[in-house]
Amino acid sequence: MSPVKDFDIAIVGGGIAGLTLAIALNSRSIPVTLYEQAASFGEIGAGVSFSPNAVQAMKVCHQGIYEAFETVCTRNLWPSKEKVWFDYVDAYSDVTSDGVLATAFTISNSLGQNGLHRAHFLDEAVKLFPKQLVRFGKRLQNITEDGSGRLMMHFDDGTVAKTDAIIGCDGIKSRVRQAIVGPDHSSARPVYTHKYAYRGLIPMEDACAAVGEERAQNACMYMGHDKHILTFPVNHGKTLNLVAFRTSSEDWPDAQRLTRSGELDELLHEFEDYGPAVIKLLKLLDPKLNVWAIFDLGYPAPTFYKGRICISGDAAHATSPHHGAGAGFCIEDSAMLAELLADEQVKSRHELEAVFATYDTERRSRAQWLVESSRWIGDCYELRAEGIGNDFTKIEAEIKKRNGIIADINIEEMCARAKDELRKRLSGSCE
Ligand code: FAD
Repeated sequence: MSPVKDFDIAIVGGGIAGLTLAIALNSRSIPVTLYEQAASFGEIGAGVSFSPNAVQAMKVCHQGIYEAFETVCTRNLWPSKEKVWFDYVDAYSDVTSDGVLATAFTISNSLGQNGLHRAHFLDEAVKLFPKQLVRFGKRLQNITEDGSGRLMMHFDDGTVAKTDAIIGCDGIKSRVRQAIVGPDHSSARPVYTHKYAYRGLIPMEDACAAVGEERAQNACMYMGHDKHILTFPVNHGKTLNLVAFRTSSEDWPDAQRLTRSGELDELLHEFEDYGPAVIKLLKLLDPKLNVWAIFDLGYPAPTFYKGRICISGDAAHATSPHHGAGAGFCIEDSAMLAELLADEQVKSRHELEAVFATYDTERRSRAQWLVESSRWIGDCYELRAEGIGNDFTKIEAEIKKRNGIIADINIEEMCARAKDELRKRLSGSCE
């Protein structure tokens, strides 16, 4: 059987962006090889949650990705909170008569909260991609062209691989982005947002004993001055995922290393003005914690492609995590790239630049909006956004408006529109 496409694609990076794209391309019979620097696939042992747009995008990529998600995802445990995204709580408010911190307001959406353990999702997703199409231990160093128009990927181990097109899914410190924008462009490197986060997982039984069942078994955000904590159940309700964010005017000590080791005592000191129930919850974390610097692409990339090289996921639009949408947008990218590359008019490598140009036009403004909006909403949670402060009515309105932009989108329509644009471009009616 002759191949459907007369070109091959290299994906660099096997995180959520790279793996979902690889699965989506392979299932559309598009020749693809995935290059990953690590010796195996690996996600960190932390939680991630997905909003309705992300779930739609999974289905467009491959039904199996959606099924993997359904297998491992955990929703709010209370049926009455089925559609709740987060209950927002004023960390300084008085507890109600039954000892629970009162809800300031609730944000809901069509799917409610969907939390999962990253590593469990990855374990399911990798089953959908043939092992023989993955090259581990391949850290991309730079890209050149051979005389015949093939791209050459040079890896740290001294090896070289050729391909017709490269999609960089190599995360926030992307080498592929550097190859596109140039190593000295302001978007070549990520920017510290002056927020950092402690992340941890707590057995649900212990969490319930600390903050009560309502707070522990359903997604909750504890808003405070220059800090906030979010929690949601993962692991089918057996575990509580906790992320505690803090704003700091100090610079991050080492831009090369986005994590540092921290101590529980440090965290407890920083959140000492929170009420006793939350403090009890924090005390359940390990005494040694990793602290994650929150970097983003605050200087937006002027383009997501150059010739037959493009970027997707965090490589293109790494965002702070305050909308809980970064990974979801990675999957949106994968859905669009897969649908464009699968278009019947895309047959040879000559059409690939038009595919990437269309992807750039259709994705860049939405993705870069997220980066900016996420910073803003993070400040809203911390009662520090200009003109919003600790006015909960305004905070609620900001979240609703912005979450609507993220979630209320039809991903199939987004892809269909992009395909129309691609066809116009290929027929020469669009520059
Ligand atoms: P990565 O996960 O960084 O993967 C990049 C891959 O490329 C890695 O496997 C790496 O080893 C490989 N690589 C890197 N360089 C090279 C190279 N030169 N050569 C070869 N391989 C290379 N998003 C949500 O949607 N919901 C959430 O709830 C959420 N919570 C978050 C909480 C925190 C604290 C943080 C920091 C982020 C959160 N996000 C969330 C964002 C989400 O984690 C990211 O958007 C997503 O994981 C990015 O995936 P990626 O595949 O683009 O990049």
